[in-house]
Amino acid sequence: MATERTLSILKPDATRRNITGKINDKIESASLRIIAQKRLWLTRSQAETFYSVHSSHSFFNDLCTFMTSGPVVVQVLEGENAIANYRAVMGATNPANANPGTIRKEFAESIEANSVHGSDSAETASNEIKFFFSDLEIVG
Ligand code: GDP
Repeated sequence: MATERTLSILKPDATRRNITGKINDKIESASLRIIAQKRLWLTRSQAETFYSVHSSHSFFNDLCTFMTSGPVVVQVLEGENAIANYRAVMGATNPANANPGTIRKEFAESIEANSVHGSDSAETASNEIKFFFSDLEIVG
């Protein structure tokens, strides 16, 4: 297994409920290191660009409205097999299908307001990290 980096977002439902620390505890307990972190309020344009892969989906408009409804915390996570490891820690997109102990099972409100985002491949992770962070902001 290789050391990898992945892009994480703590979504507006998490900042609204003041549970970013509880989610970070799950992240760190899974041996993922938070090597960059900042709080942002995404613009509509940023949300649409970030989620452009979903632009043809019926939920795209609602998703962008949700992602701009409050602050988010964007992070770079580093660790062994970090991309797949974080996806496992996050749990299934729909919290109804998420495994016990996962972030989404414990904290998500709905399939949309599901508390966290995590990159789904090495290529996506690289692009998503560059979308939010400069090299100077990442301290491994
Ligand atoms: P993820 O990789 O597990 O985050 O899931 P996807 O890439 O498939 O979807 C991106 C995000 O869009 C999800 O995390 C949800 O916030 C939202 N989403 C996905 N499917 C639906 C849906 O059927 N309805 C709504 N309203 N939002 C959805």
